[in-house]
Amino acid sequence: MSNRILVTPPGPKAKAILERDSKVLSPSYARDYGFVMDHGKGAQVWDVDGNRYVDFCAGIAVNATGHAHPEIVKAIQDQAEKYIHISSDFYHELMVRVAERINEIAPMQEDVTVFLANSGTESVEAALKLARYATGRRQFIGFLGAFHGRSMGSLSFTASKARQQERFFPTMPGVWHVPFPDPYRPLFPIPQNGDEGDAVVNYIENILFATALPPDEVAAILVEPIQGEGGYIVPPKNFFPRLRALCDKHGILLISDEVQAGVGRTGKWWAIQHDQVEPDIICIAKGIASGIPMGAMAARKSIGAKWKPGAHGNTYGGNPIACVSALKTLELVEREYMQNAATQGAYIFDALAEMQSRHPSIGDVRGRGLMVGVEFVADRATKEPARELRNRIIHRCFETGLLMLGCGQSTIRFCPPLMIERALVDEGLEIFERAMSEVEQN
Ligand SMILES: *Cc1c(COP(=O)(O)O)cnc(C)c1O
Repeated sequence: MSNRILVTPPGPKAKAILERDSKVLSPSYARDYGFVMDHGKGAQVWDVDGNRYVDFCAGIAVNATGHAHPEIVKAIQDQAEKYIHISSDFYHELMVRVAERINEIAPMQEDVTVFLANSGTESVEAALKLARYATGRRQFIGFLGAFHGRSMGSLSFTASKARQQERFFPTMPGVWHVPFPDPYRPLFPIPQNGDEGDAVVNYIENILFATALPPDEVAAILVEPIQGEGGYIVPPKNFFPRLRALCDKHGILLISDEVQAGVGRTGKWWAIQHDQVEPDIICIAKGIASGIPMGAMAARKSIGAKWKPGAHGNTYGGNPIACVSALKTLELVEREYMQNAATQGAYIFDALAEMQSRHPSIGDVRGRGLMVGVEFVADRATKEPARELRNRIIHRCFETGLLMLGCGQSTIRFCPPLMIERALVDEGLEIFERAMSEVEQN
């Protein structure tokens, strides 16, 4: 597996494309480094200058089945020859099959109704509109550090970087942000016999509801089962059961945004299943169709069936190419890759925890399955975030043949394709540790 890096990236061909990109593409795209894709295979990608990289990003946790999986490619090709589009004003069986599949695997006992969209933010918008419609209530609770998308409704919940909000207010009114329980950086005193999850739910109940927000005006709580963009933060074990009980008590819907954590990435179909809690609505996107844009919102039938024809819709939702890609992705994830995510994820977690003992700049290692975060700190005692160091490690990985992405203040995320094999995991971890050592030393 030599010949990873032939020319220091970005090489001449990449540079030429970056130059053209900067002239015509929106400067709003936030890129950390100049990787210019040529092609990919499994969990490896090649840039336009011929450099080979191990892919620990899968886009942004999207390419569940890896790049150019032959069964996905074949499914897309076959479907393209039959028909590429018939809008959702008509019927086709693939849409039905995707919804039937989601109904089979959804984390609710009750059957679900499914709305198909084209992205994460659209699946969140659908959930918000349904929550308002079904409950007749107007207020919502979201979490600091959350990411739910960039359109005006979902953006009103997004709170992982102030830059995402800057100059866009007012967004949707009625969204109340509360802290997300972070076991590494607890904000509240931990109650006796409890954890940070109890503390946050107590805060909602005893402070927010008692002083500012009447609970019977709250339509839903929108929450990520593991915070993604916010730093791959796994909530403590009491959080979801307590949140569910709070929702039940006040007739509030619980929406689990599984856009990043769902579809097998954590080793279960849905990340909230680790907490043994049933949501009322789930939002799905990223991993579901191996990179063909698709989003989905699945709601318990007693809620979802309240919508009348025309209450919500779109042109492209349930696109046939996206549907065949989703069906094949779900089949592969079920057959093999969900288990692989659990196995390789545990292996990565252990390897990183061991690195933590050698590298004092690692403050915390956390995650589930192939959703693992490493948080960097300037000092383990003060936990001061080491943002610059984190950025330099990511950049050094890029120069030496590994694609990585940051999240949160000073975390690096590990979210490779779910199909990644052990040899590439080892190769990637080795590049990562070497990059970390080099950056730590100067
Ligand atoms: C990425 C993401 C979204 C938004 O998805 P887009 O497809 O970019 O609109 C929503 N929620 C979560 C948890 C995400 O990670």
